[in-house]
Amino acid sequence: MIFTPLQARSLITWYQTHKRDLPWRDTGNPYDVWISEIMLQQTRVEFVKDRFLQFRSELPDIPALAKCSDERLMKLWEGMGYYSRARNLKKCAQKLCETYEAVLPKTVEELIKLPGIGPYTAGAIASIAYRQPVPAVDGNVLRVIARYFEEERDIRDSAVKAEVTASIQQFYDACSDEMMKEFPSLSSLLNQALMELGAIICVPNGQPRCTECPWSHTCKAYLHQKTDQIPYRSALKERTIQQRTILVILDGSRFLLHKRPDKGLLAGLYEFPGYEGYLSRKEALDAVRELGLSPVHIKKLPDSRHIFSHIEWHMKAYEILTDNIDQALPEGYVLLNKKELRQFAVPSAFHTYKDWYSLQE
Ligand code: SF4
Repeated sequence: MIFTPLQARSLITWYQTHKRDLPWRDTGNPYDVWISEIMLQQTRVEFVKDRFLQFRSELPDIPALAKCSDERLMKLWEGMGYYSRARNLKKCAQKLCETYEAVLPKTVEELIKLPGIGPYTAGAIASIAYRQPVPAVDGNVLRVIARYFEEERDIRDSAVKAEVTASIQQFYDACSDEMMKEFPSLSSLLNQALMELGAIICVPNGQPRCTECPWSHTCKAYLHQKTDQIPYRSALKERTIQQRTILVILDGSRFLLHKRPDKGLLAGLYEFPGYEGYLSRKEALDAVRELGLSPVHIKKLPDSRHIFSHIEWHMKAYEILTDNIDQALPEGYVLLNKKELRQFAVPSAFHTYKDWYSLQE
């Protein structure tokens, strides 16, 4: 895998004409690059656009993020899943305030020491925000390069990713003065061009739009008609299916929510109380009595499913109406009226039930 100035030039030229207009693009602010890159992990660009603008307007800089309350942060992150990303953003912002005068460092070596910043994000921040000549290899880039060079090995293999990363690094290291003069932000442009090509042209699942690709004349997978076979990706382990029962407990006007443990899935977030397995009506009522409450009516709610990266929740649910709750609640439980609940971040796993009561904003 050897990059040439000709390939780089044609791709950058294509990028400069065809890149999408995204709110975090070309702002020149490292904070924007960082926040958007973290949001874009596991979440679609179209969804991130609005969320990014809202996040950015409420938390305009690193000190604001470091001081944000957990509840507010979770609310700003609501619907994007993988909440540990938001928690790490705050942790990282606090570390930046303590140690780096609230400024993201410029080098991959320093960036990678920070919470929630891995090699890809470090490369993206260093190259896009600070023009450092370093690669940023995400899934899109890996797919583009694998197809272009007809790399038939498993792209889940870390050796393949390491080779792709090394090939881009070698290109930057060997770049001529002439090229650097032509493109003073070479790594920022080329890294973003590779990501953009993977996002809008060299798309996954054997459907790349090769006739619109600036590399179609030299791409080996296209010329050898192998774009449906490359990249090869070995199968992931199947998800574990967990059966759960969700109880929407309310005393007429207020809902009972439970705070999940500080570690593990959806750590520290509020949920409608959930139980392993499928409870019968009697078991559900007993569970409510064990909380010290007096159920007066039970009704079945719709089933729902939620998919996490390695687990699937298959949920059955009941609404349980109780007498007015006026005693002290068990630790970790809160009572919220509809308005308060709207302001609370409830993970998307429970949105079927939040929607059921028209509680979405
Ligand atoms: S020609 Fe097709 S397969 Fe090759 S890089 Fe371009 S879009 Fe991807």
